[in-house]
Amino acid sequence: MPEHHALSPAPMIALTHEKQEHAETLLVNWLMGDTCTLACRYCAPSLHEGAHAWVDLPTVRSFHGRVAAQYRSGHTRRIYYCLNGGEITCHPQLPEIAAFLKKEECGIALLSNGNREQGYWETILPDADHLCLSYHPSGMTEKRFIETVAVAIPLVTTHVNIMMDPDHFERSRALGEYLLEHFDTFTMNVPPLMRRLGLDSSLMDYTDEQRRIMTGLETAAAHIRQRRIPAGYRGAMVAHMSDGTLETISAGQLFGLNRTCFRGWECGAGLEMISIFYDGDIYPAWCFEGNKMNRIGNVHDSVLRFPDRPQICPFDICWDNSDIMMTKRRRISATQ
Ligand code: SF4
Repeated sequence: MPEHHALSPAPMIALTHEKQEHAETLLVNWLMGDTCTLACRYCAPSLHEGAHAWVDLPTVRSFHGRVAAQYRSGHTRRIYYCLNGGEITCHPQLPEIAAFLKKEECGIALLSNGNREQGYWETILPDADHLCLSYHPSGMTEKRFIETVAVAIPLVTTHVNIMMDPDHFERSRALGEYLLEHFDTFTMNVPPLMRRLGLDSSLMDYTDEQRRIMTGLETAAAHIRQRRIPAGYRGAMVAHMSDGTLETISAGQLFGLNRTCFRGWECGAGLEMISIFYDGDIYPAWCFEGNKMNRIGNVHDSVLRFPDRPQICPFDICWDNSDIMMTKRRRISATQ
């Protein structure tokens, strides 16, 4: 849920990272397979139906060699892999992949539903930097999720997304309140759910009371975010306005303010981030999925031509947080 933020009505002319280290971090977002332990009603089948095999360790090794050869010779100081599924902990070689990437001095974030036993996390998290946990109430117990949060926090930076499924609203609410009360070194978001992740981005129906509760939880979580030392691969952005003002702002706030049309702008997609889909196809950002003109190649290709200059944004809306959190500069006669 977007936090209130007043942005100057003047046109924006650039969006930059608040921290220089984030501008110098290449984010590799990788959907490594689509097998999941859950099949939530709001999740498109293509995100959990198990139609694609997990990417194996030899492919990770060879692909990373190409990524490092390209990006470590430029302004990138750190390569950060965001490994996702399906449910990434179903990947049988995840421990070996994490150990390999750590040896290569990469950052590693894992995106998971948290539904694994404590011993698993104690084994794998020493080789990771960040764990992003999503609580899906229809398929999980609160007890297991809380145990995962408790084991993760001392080992890695930990972020929690609570899925506020209207069918299980009270359970999600109670879990959010419990976590806020018992842990203070993690971050949390309580976003309203889309009707169908990956298919329909309109929001589910919530009562006014449910919206009030979500706003309250999100506000309480924002206090934790503000006092925490930020770490990791992305963070706040700075909006440069044509009247000379600079405003620190989050991707979610920009989206909530309907200020994410960058059509015609220069965008750091492909320079600061690449996105890899289940079939191994590589694009400069999530927004370019299926766009042959912008396809970089496939993780199995022996030669890859990575972008060496900014993309010119062809879209009316930039909707994904990772996509928004890249350097963008307005060109003459572009929108915004
Ligand atoms: S939609 Fe794509 S190209 Fe346009 S600003 Fe967002 S990430 Fe960049």
